[in-house]
Amino acid sequence: MTLPSRLPFEIIRDPAAMRARAEDLRRDGRRVAVVPTMGALHDGHLTLLRRARAMADVVILTIFVNPTQFGPNEDLSRYPRDEAGDLAKARACGIDLAFCPTAEAMYPAGSQTFVEVRELAQPLCGASRPGHFAGVATVVTKLFHVTRPHVALFGEKDYQQLAVIRRMTRDLDFGIEIVGVPIVREPDGLAMSSRNVYLSPAQRAQALALVNGLGAAEAALRAGERDAAALLAAARAPIEAAAADGGVRIDYLELRDADDLSPVAVVTRPAVLAMAVFVGTTRLIDNRVLKP
Ligand code: AMP
Repeated sequence: MTLPSRLPFEIIRDPAAMRARAEDLRRDGRRVAVVPTMGALHDGHLTLLRRARAMADVVILTIFVNPTQFGPNEDLSRYPRDEAGDLAKARACGIDLAFCPTAEAMYPAGSQTFVEVRELAQPLCGASRPGHFAGVATVVTKLFHVTRPHVALFGEKDYQQLAVIRRMTRDLDFGIEIVGVPIVREPDGLAMSSRNVYLSPAQRAQALALVNGLGAAEAALRAGERDAAALLAAARAPIEAAAADGGVRIDYLELRDADDLSPVAVVTRPAVLAMAVFVGTTRLIDNRVLKP
């Protein structure tokens, strides 16, 4: 029997129904890709969906603003939500299925189990956002169990998140291929983010300091600089210039080994320059891998 090449589009909200559907798809011999998101889709997300479309028979988009990865003083309640708009954009990328559960369905009363990745989740965003990666690892585990993918795609924009998920997938024998997708940027270089909508026009201009910092460090590396402190100083300069206008604050700016995220003093192998910067109350992240 030959299977129909494409399935009718479906939205599933119930985890048990999603799992049953996913098991049917696997039993039919289809290769399943999943792209987990928190919605408010932009071109970065759509790039992941298009990549997934090219890699699999069935593409599942998940939209879930996961409460367990937000700290108590973070933007969970005001995080942008636009399910109808998201589904229209995603369908134009050819997805087959959207899994959009409620928080109650994902975390029924009494839930008390978390997945913890250790060393990789400690520095950078792990240090500024205690509990964040346990929330991420737990929800991604649950989304994997419910959608049963062969392949899952994540953006390099969230560099540490990708590292944590790769590690977890290996450590816990999930048998899922993890694909990282390069950062998608606005024409002026700002990394696309659902949180960019929080920025006023003046803040939007200040936010360019992040990518300018990455570019300055890259230029220093190209000019022969290998010392981490000097590369970090180059990256910090445009951000401090923007900070002089007020409202910009570095949360962290660090150079770490591109694989295990251990601290780097001298760049002798690929290192990731990773930063989180507050522009007003909006926390933006960006990174670039520096290759000597
Ligand atoms: P989020 O909805 O922010 O949780 O992001 C969902 C997925 O999209 C994650 O794997 C992100 O890393 C990825 N993503 C977000 N922004 C970008 C971007 N500008 N370029 C590439 N991937 C991105």
